[in-house]
Amino acid sequence: MAVPTLEQRTTVPPVVNAASVTKVYTRGSEPGRFGRLIGRSEPATVEAVSDVSLTIRPGEIVGLAGPSGSGKSTLLHLLAGLEVPTEGAVQYQDTDLASLSNRRRTRLRLEEIGIVFQQFHLLDSLSARANVALPLVELGVGRRKRRQRASELLERVGLGDRISHRPGELSGGEQQRVAIARALVTDPTLVVADEPTGELDTETGRRVLEEFTRVAEDRAVVLASHDRETLAIADRIVRLQDGTIVDSADA
Ligand code: ADP
Ligand code: MG
Repeated sequence: MAVPTLEQRTTVPPVVNAASVTKVYTRGSEPGRFGRLIGRSEPATVEAVSDVSLTIRPGEIVGLAGPSGSGKSTLLHLLAGLEVPTEGAVQYQDTDLASLSNRRRTRLRLEEIGIVFQQFHLLDSLSARANVALPLVELGVGRRKRRQRASELLERVGLGDRISHRPGELSGGEQQRVAIARALVTDPTLVVADEPTGELDTETGRRVLEEFTRVAEDRAVVLASHDRETLAIADRIVRLQDGTIVDSADA
């Protein structure tokens, strides 16, 4: 695998860069009925990520570690343009994500960023191939090309013989590999994965991790997990606690 040298890591342009990002979630500011009854309300805001700076370069796998609630998912969502920061900026290649309209940000995400979730998020009524092809439907790619590309990606993750299976007819590990194929179908520059082995047993998880290692040969991968074995594939581990980076080290 192409682990970047220290020199490359400081000279190759980043895929994505977060500069002092803070994400505050605001909840209903009105105290609930129970809150009014007992004369107090829950805090109206949660600072999920506080003043985090992070640079992700091509060819590296970065692991986000930290206990539940430490801000891993929020940071991933910021890097992937699923959320915009309350303060600070996320720069994707040359583009400040906050400068884009929602529509253009969605488009950039579709074209450039692959996302893998813990619970696969596949559509049960569609075949593996149709699931993998979905981002291409949204990008307006023709049917023939979509099917061809989706089949290629399924082959690549070792599921060439499961093309017409529906998610319900696949094991958890196979479903996650379908989700990885879907994340790769647009040939993204960045792949983010949120607890991608969280639902899988150790052996199945290993197969999925091998896939990520291969994925990172020609793109950047950011992987949130609290599983040691999952984090072991990272070139660098960034540890979060209460929304801030408490440690960052080469693995
Ligand atoms: P992790 O992925 O490390 O478990 P998260 O990023 O999911 O952490 O959450 C960080 C903090 O932000 C938690 O306190 C969580 O409750 C809060 N949080 C996450 N998402 C939201 C949201 N949509 N609205 C309000 N609070 C949220
Ligand atoms: Mg999470």
